[in-house]
Amino acid sequence: MTGPERADVDGVSVPTGHLIGGEWVGSPSTFETRSPLDWDELHLADIARGDSAAADAAVAAAVAGFDMWGSTTVVERAETMHRLADLIDDNTDEIARVECLDMGFLEESMKLRLVARGALNFRTYADLTVAHEDRHWDAKGMANTVQRMPAGPAVVITPWNAPFMLATWKLAPALAAGNSVIHKPAEWSPLSAALLAELALEAGFPPGAYNLVQGIGSEVGGALVADPRVRRISFTGSPATGRVIGKAAAENIVPFTAELGGKGPLIVFADADLDAAAHRAAWQFDDSGQVCLAGARLLVERSIREPFLERFHHHADQLVLGDSRDPNTDIAPLAHPDHRQRVHGFVKRARAVGDTVVRGGRPVKGSLHYEPTLIEPATNDSEVVQEEIFGPVLTFQTFEDEPEAVRLANSTRYGLSAIIYTGSQQRAERVTAAIRAGVVWVNTFLVRDLTAPFGGCGISGIGREGGDHALDFHSEVKTVMILNDTTS
Ligand code: ADP
Repeated sequence: MTGPERADVDGVSVPTGHLIGGEWVGSPSTFETRSPLDWDELHLADIARGDSAAADAAVAAAVAGFDMWGSTTVVERAETMHRLADLIDDNTDEIARVECLDMGFLEESMKLRLVARGALNFRTYADLTVAHEDRHWDAKGMANTVQRMPAGPAVVITPWNAPFMLATWKLAPALAAGNSVIHKPAEWSPLSAALLAELALEAGFPPGAYNLVQGIGSEVGGALVADPRVRRISFTGSPATGRVIGKAAAENIVPFTAELGGKGPLIVFADADLDAAAHRAAWQFDDSGQVCLAGARLLVERSIREPFLERFHHHADQLVLGDSRDPNTDIAPLAHPDHRQRVHGFVKRARAVGDTVVRGGRPVKGSLHYEPTLIEPATNDSEVVQEEIFGPVLTFQTFEDEPEAVRLANSTRYGLSAIIYTGSQQRAERVTAAIRAGVVWVNTFLVRDLTAPFGGCGISGIGREGGDHALDFHSEVKTVMILNDTTS
């Protein structure tokens, strides 16, 4: 890289600049990233703070990179992406360590699940593009063909909660479709994106095909999405930021997808395997609740209220809050002190309006943990029921019958995910049909095939990613009609 801009993060060397046109470059100013594992003591790196000049240079590089990458064959693209997937696998330990320190993600979880999932994202999209066949048919004396064309430079903006996995999930389809990319990771956890960009360079993406710009969302992110040379925007983050980016996309007539979080219900019917359901409910505290798909609203059939709660508390009592580097830890600290304050703000306001804190409800002294918290709201209109908290705070409500369960499940402005526990196949079919959400799990959670669509209803977002949905989003779809030659 040009200049000395690398940081040593617990023995892993991480570039701290932007990757623009195949070169590592800095910016006049920096921002710092600290570790939630020891906020006061663990300063990890000073990262280039992108400005409008960095955004402009990255888009220019992506325009040039698109000329090269967009005209490669799908097989060439797939080979590069497979090389990147292999490099990700080879660097699992380093990626896991850096992500763990930077965001607080459990290191063991990263090693066992998320880094591999990141590699799989590149493999899956590489293979899907190769397998794709243009559609051909004859009609009205013409040979008709539907083709995909790469759309152009794509800006991919990712959040802080699962930085590495979400970056790969969103970058892989853009690259597979033949678009050049500019990745803007979140400023709270920028480091694993730098490792990914470095591996992309090593995998052999042509200069400008894969760019990384670091910085603050409202500064460099805003400049990137406002640039008319950008032809796709893929965003995951908050509804508030989604609205801002949507306006910029509208200004330039640019398609954008937005995954904006959720407030999913976890519905437990009396005919369910109660212990499995209660165990699943307690594990919604996983990742400290910093999961958009979490079943954050427990909706439990009234007749099983007490046995459910007893089992829920039993399982929640077993959860170990600790250091994310320790394999025995179940619950990590929250990612940032500001976030913990925000989470606590929800709980304080809940107490003030008469909601009952059944369990937890306080920040843990001496770390950035927040106690796994269960709140029984005074009404369904309570803020803790209606708004995404994104922390280890669940609500508990009961319902009388199936229609009431569905009504409560569908009663927020969100609609990303839902989890249902029932022993009845017919009920599963009825309730899943009635739920307004992009993803519904019955008697299971989180497992999802990468070719399945993913996205939300309501303010949970716009569009679907996953499989061909993401490839279509990142392509221009063209219909060609050639008049059949009737003379030969
Ligand atoms: P959260 O509230 O979960 O932190 P945000 O929506 O603020 O989520 O951030 C998600 C991502 O969007 C981050 O990468 C952030 O830097 C970026 N971002 C924030 N504001 C803007 C903006 N105005 N334009 C573009 N990107 C932004």
